[in-house]
Amino acid sequence: MPESRHRFPITGSGCTPLSSCISLDKMIAIGRQAKAMCEKCSFDAELDLDALRSRVGGDYCLIDRRSKCRICGGWVRFFYLQGIWRGMWTDEGSSRWISVDRKRNDR
Ligand SMILES: [Zn+2]
Repeated sequence: MPESRHRFPITGSGCTPLSSCISLDKMIAIGRQAKAMCEKCSFDAELDLDALRSRVGGDYCLIDRRSKCRICGGWVRFFYLQGIWRGMWTDEGSSRWISVDRKRNDR
């Protein structure tokens, strides 16, 4: 059962080819361009997928991940290029972030 670890809901438009970002190996194989952008300070940087793969391995999946911005401490999200830059997250992942952030702010 290949790719059984990842199940993505088919969202509204149904045309977002997120499955092409299932792993770094796949993204590199099809020549996907990706970038990271901070939602707070708008800092953005193109991702060097080869360099990333050598650090984390070819199975690594960027979908529904975010990381801390080195500049402002805000959240950096990942995007891939398919005509336009599209977010590399699912509705599920996005709502999980919202609830995590809400809990943090309640404290
Ligand atoms: Zn930032």
